[in-house]
Amino acid sequence: MKPFEANIRKVVPYVPGEQPKREKMIKLNTNENPYPPAPKVAKALGELGGDRLRLYPDPTCQILVDALADYYKVGKDQVFVGVGSDDVLAMAFMTFFNSDKPILFPDVTYSFYPVWAELLHIPFERPALDEQFRIRKEDYYRENGGIVFPNPNAPTAIAEPLSFIEDILVHNPDVIVIVDEAYVDFGAESALPLLEKYENLLIVQTFSKSRSMAGMRIGYAIGSPLLIRSMNDVKYSYNSYTMNTPSLVCGVEAVKDEAYFRETVGKIVETREYAQEVLKKLGFEMTDSSANFLFVTHPAVPAAELFEALKKEDIFVRYFRADRIDNYLRITIGTGEEMEALFAFLSDYLKNR
Ligand code: PMP
Repeated sequence: MKPFEANIRKVVPYVPGEQPKREKMIKLNTNENPYPPAPKVAKALGELGGDRLRLYPDPTCQILVDALADYYKVGKDQVFVGVGSDDVLAMAFMTFFNSDKPILFPDVTYSFYPVWAELLHIPFERPALDEQFRIRKEDYYRENGGIVFPNPNAPTAIAEPLSFIEDILVHNPDVIVIVDEAYVDFGAESALPLLEKYENLLIVQTFSKSRSMAGMRIGYAIGSPLLIRSMNDVKYSYNSYTMNTPSLVCGVEAVKDEAYFRETVGKIVETREYAQEVLKKLGFEMTDSSANFLFVTHPAVPAAELFEALKKEDIFVRYFRADRIDNYLRITIGTGEEMEALFAFLSDYLKNR
């Protein structure tokens, strides 16, 4: 080992879902939206040029902060935007999780949480989900250095009601509680109404799923002015130009088109309900999804086998080789047509295997 290697940080990085480059693939593995972003997003992008790109972006991200504050009816000092919710969550970990006590998040959840915790030397503990893959709120009633969980949880797709979130907040007045609402628009209750009562609540959302803009990288946090100010202080101590101008401009256009947003989210929810029925008929078992994906298992066929068989057909779903969930597949809801192709393949495969 070269002497300088001793000072290189060793981390086990997060592994993002595959982005295969296949011509006719059906891509149901990273929870992207199968529909394009609102029409004015592409138009705005096409019109960007000249000084808009020559100059640095606005470090305060004001146009997007204002659009989100108006949309959610919160103060402009209550919104923080970043490069996807991954960036916002990493910034929140850095800002709020500085206790010697462990932060808490479920054993089965978004697999980036332990990676940030390791990277930032934050101690953590992972209370186990119950047998039905539900979060047990009582596990979060003990002393801790902060709490983070997605609602709906991922990859389980299960949502908990507002009262559940409030119970956790009531028991944790002294730490920051982050609710990661990446998938909330597909059928869960947002914790936004709780912001008035709980200054220690931070809600994180994204444009990657319900607004079809994963490629743009836009995420945001909504919280009390104190929390948002603290996140901005950390941001300006790290990288003041996180958001590029195209993201700011296009993000605003997406927020403005409420009708399109409702239409596409509605289509995905409808397809999800139908997909659950069809997959159940094929013998699959699944959690009750409030997200844009299903978390399924088949009693007779191992998930790993199905994953490989689907992949051979250029149908990509997500498989986690992890404790407790290694017999499950996470299937993103695609267009009706994509789902039909999936059903047809599975039906055939299960019959002829
Ligand atoms: N939170 C959860 C629970 C997710 O599944 C994802 C998607 N990988 C993210 C946050 C991050 O999404 P993005 O950075 O695209 O906003």
